[in-house]
Amino acid sequence: MKTSIATVSISGELPEKLEAIARAGFDGVEIFENDFLAFDGSPADVGRMVRDYGLTITLFQPFRDFEGMPEPLRGRTFDRAERKFDVMQELGTDLLLVCSNVSPVSLGGIERAAADFHELGERAAARGLKVGYEALAWGRHISDHRDAWEIVRRADHPNIGLILDSFHTLSKKIDINSIRSIPKDKIFIVQLADAPLIDMDLLYWSRHFRNMPGEGDLPVREFTAAVAETGYDGYFSLEIFNDQFRGGQPRAIAADGCRSLIYLGDQVRRSSPGAASLSVPAMPDRARVEGVGFVEFSADEKDAADLVAILKTLGFRRTGIHRTKKVALFQQGGIRLLVNTEDRGFANASFAVHGTSAYATALVVDDAQAALARAMALGAEPFIQAVGPGEVEIPAIRGVGGGLIYLLDDRSELGRFSEIDFIPVGDKAGAGAGTRTGAGTEPEAEAVVPAHLDHVDHIAQTVAYEEMPTWLLFYTAIFEMQKTPMVDIIDPAGVVRSQVVENASGTLRITLNGAENRRTLAGHFIAETFGSGIQHLAFATGDIFKTAKALKQNGFRPLSISPNYYGDVEARFGLDPALTERLKADNILYDRDDNGEYFQLYSTTYGEGFFFEIVERRGYKGYGAPNAIFRIAALKKQMRPEGMPRK
Ligand code: MG
Ligand code: MG
Repeated sequence: MKTSIATVSISGELPEKLEAIARAGFDGVEIFENDFLAFDGSPADVGRMVRDYGLTITLFQPFRDFEGMPEPLRGRTFDRAERKFDVMQELGTDLLLVCSNVSPVSLGGIERAAADFHELGERAAARGLKVGYEALAWGRHISDHRDAWEIVRRADHPNIGLILDSFHTLSKKIDINSIRSIPKDKIFIVQLADAPLIDMDLLYWSRHFRNMPGEGDLPVREFTAAVAETGYDGYFSLEIFNDQFRGGQPRAIAADGCRSLIYLGDQVRRSSPGAASLSVPAMPDRARVEGVGFVEFSADEKDAADLVAILKTLGFRRTGIHRTKKVALFQQGGIRLLVNTEDRGFANASFAVHGTSAYATALVVDDAQAALARAMALGAEPFIQAVGPGEVEIPAIRGVGGGLIYLLDDRSELGRFSEIDFIPVGDKAGAGAGTRTGAGTEPEAEAVVPAHLDHVDHIAQTVAYEEMPTWLLFYTAIFEMQKTPMVDIIDPAGVVRSQVVENASGTLRITLNGAENRRTLAGHFIAETFGSGIQHLAFATGDIFKTAKALKQNGFRPLSISPNYYGDVEARFGLDPALTERLKADNILYDRDDNGEYFQLYSTTYGEGFFFEIVERRGYKGYGAPNAIFRIAALKKQMRPEGMPRK
């Protein structure tokens, strides 16, 4: 699969864009005329710079309002075309993109347009150049690739071909089967873009909301398969107009683009055996996630003591300490938490930047090595750490926000890492975080009452809003996970966008909360912890009331919910007042959907906004979004007591 991206898709000055594009691994770039305007150099300078980065210029654009013009305008459009050809020759590219005419003075008629293109083909051929014709979804007379193809066919010139753009075809729901009958040598290039389904003006939608294949809702895979089945083996070029991308980090956006094309190619290879011309390298299947193996916190000794005290109130017992590192293992039900207080290595570096945080997650997959191979094929960065003799080397990749994702499975010794690397301790109290001294012989603090927490229900990651597509693509490309529609969570200080990636079995659920400003709770977390990360961990219980009782015995401090909430929730759902009273007594939040009921109980915050959640699902599929506003108000109240100035 030959890959290309339009320079408009990413932000920055031209050299910065080209560097990011080359580094991400693209083969080529589309150069826009605007690239010269903002850059102090001639087309020849730009061409040289592109080639110095090892890239090919796949096309030059745009050339607008060409076909069907009445005289004397027609004559002038040919003069304009000759000037574009001059630029292309200086630049060192042979393909010009002509998009369908939007001028109100243009004349319709397929024959007239075909004649214009034939003449343009003659002029291009004289210079060894080619012209591709693209139907804009909002073109005056031509707004459908089938009509554009008819014009190209009748122009009957070897230097005139068709340009397909997934957005223009899919936004208008044009039948993609019509692509299969186009001869591959008449398709000069294929542009790809996805977009979220939003009902709005096509031009505005296209100019502001396009995104990478797989990030939106359009059937880009089916479109690409139809193209590939023609035998087309040219460039697939991302042409993404998106306000977020134009404001984002060039390297991250370019890397996303490359990942999206590789993932798209992999999907097409699997779904369409007839699409061999794509020549996409094979990679393992998306990794099936069976559960969360552990979550690891990094902290210094002092913060660790506070964290461990909270874990204890949650009913966790310290069950092991690492053989060679200052890492303690805490367990309850199927949940494993590690507290790492090493003063060197990645955990410590992470602590230095972010403070105490849940910086690593281990996922139990069907095959850890295969998952690692797939992640690397999709451009993820592997993480390798030093291990002591006899210890298990757990494969890991860097997550989007700089955190780690460890990969465990049950088919190798990875499934037994906690037995191999940790010395069991019979500590009922969970005191101390990995101090080696006196392992197993420490005086036992008072016993912890088990709180019936069974497994990790979900992991909530707070990310900068503009990074959300990156995270979604990362998870869905590597793991067998689906994204759900975005919902808005109202924080009193602004909107937080929330979107879930989860697997079908519910063994891995990740909620991504995109913060747009720093005054929201999520935004505060990002600002204070210097980056995206896990902001809360939700554990599942089979009986929230039994859990609440145990937590009380352990001295757990629940997040105190406003009494007004309970009047509202009772009225909204017609709850039995006796149930409302029980909820209120234990600060439990309630929600219901078509599938069942949901109960939520929160801790107060720890550090700069981290907290724990306990949930009981009785068939319920969601995450309690209607309760978020009450939860956020309560958390904010707790973090900034009355009368205290805001930090
Ligand atoms: Mg286009
Ligand atoms: Mg939650």
